[in-house]
Amino acid sequence: MKRDLYSPEDLMFQDVVRRWMLTEVVPHQERWRKQGIVDRAAWRAAGQAGMLCPMVSEEYGGVGGTFLHSTIIIEELARVFESGFAISLHSDIVVPYIERFGDAAQKARWLPGCVNGELVTALAMTEPGTGSDLAALRATAVRDGEHYVINGTKTFISNGLLCDLVVLAVKTDPDPANAHSGISLFVVEADTPGFSRGTKLEKMGMASQDTAELFFEDCRVPAANRLGAEGAGFLMLMQNLQQERLVVAIGAQAAAESILEETIAYTKERHAFGRPISKFQNTRFKLAECATEVEVGRAFLDKLVQQHAAGEYLVKECSMAKLWTTEMGQKVADECLQLFGGYGYMLEYNVSRAFMDARVQRIYAGTNEIMKIIISKQMGL
Ligand SMILES: Cc1cc2nc3c(=O)[nH]c(=O)nc-3n(C[C@H](O)[C@H](O)[C@H](O)COP(=O)(O)OP(=O)(O)OC[C@H]3O[C@@H](n4cnc5c(N)ncnc54)[C@H](O)[C@@H]3O)c2cc1C
Repeated sequence: MKRDLYSPEDLMFQDVVRRWMLTEVVPHQERWRKQGIVDRAAWRAAGQAGMLCPMVSEEYGGVGGTFLHSTIIIEELARVFESGFAISLHSDIVVPYIERFGDAAQKARWLPGCVNGELVTALAMTEPGTGSDLAALRATAVRDGEHYVINGTKTFISNGLLCDLVVLAVKTDPDPANAHSGISLFVVEADTPGFSRGTKLEKMGMASQDTAELFFEDCRVPAANRLGAEGAGFLMLMQNLQQERLVVAIGAQAAAESILEETIAYTKERHAFGRPISKFQNTRFKLAECATEVEVGRAFLDKLVQQHAAGEYLVKECSMAKLWTTEMGQKVADECLQLFGGYGYMLEYNVSRAFMDARVQRIYAGTNEIMKIIISKQMGL
């Protein structure tokens, strides 16, 4: 189906982003995967090229764009199968906490660096003992005059090694009776004494992503680094998690489309028993099934992106999109991999990496089981 999500101006931006990916991302991908981390210089280049934080206002160095600009960047990253360069985590998940909940001084201090790529951000919620059950987190921040003293450990933190700023969820009131109202958010600068990082965690996919543990030991952070009111952290997280889920869905959908396109081309070229494998009924049926699922996902997602960009708050639909597109994306990657035969198992092929990268999308940004809990609650069940 023809997409009507983008205006002619959006399509011009898409063209710029697509060309930027080809010149600034694709040539480095193999090296980034081998070193397990994207070059810091790539973040600065992204900032200079306007690929970071397109929604930040001009006042803070941005261009004051829309969520559609972010959507284009996420899609183009997925189209070149770059799963480790966490631009969208930075631009559309972490920075919005500062933008939305930060005061004027916090925004003036941090947003320009986030836009120009000097400051790379991370969001630290998950702990070794808790992920889905966010209210059970154990890291603490204890007020001491004009500072808070932070102690605790966070794990699986994307951009963990590169980050200069961490938006951190901690307990300011550890009383279990106040599990939700006891959570606050802080921006921790990486040069703060008491903050340290673990080594890069080895993962099955997202090879160029620097996912790590973060440690806070008597880490003294100025009270001025708290985002919003003390105890308002859980509410802030809940408000921003819709966009996080939508971002994951957009990436999953675009990756499924790309891998399907590559697979169709491959099956037309690869021969077996004297004809292209695309001529076998099984291949055609599998590709027809995948194409149908991809089209259905696209129709739902484009409508949702449009509504989200217009400012609608769509808890159920964002959870549905995350659930459906990530399950679909995994299934499409698996079917496509099968059609590549042995080559599909080789790491040099996009389909092999797309299959491994797709797996985590069912886990992070809230597991798909948690999505079902949210959806059913929204259904009044
Ligand atoms: C590559 C990667 C990057 C990540 N990046 C970040 C990051 O940048 N920042 C961050 O804070 N976190 C990050 N995470 C963490 C991620 O969000 C968590 O792993 C996820 O939320 C699940 O938490 P958990 O791993 O503790 O699993 P658990 O919560 O222990 O869940 C284990 C299993 O139990 C199921 N389960 C849990 N509760 C229920 C329930 N009530 N009903 C039914 N089933 C349930 C889950 O669905 C899952 O299948 C990342 C994870 C990965 C793998």
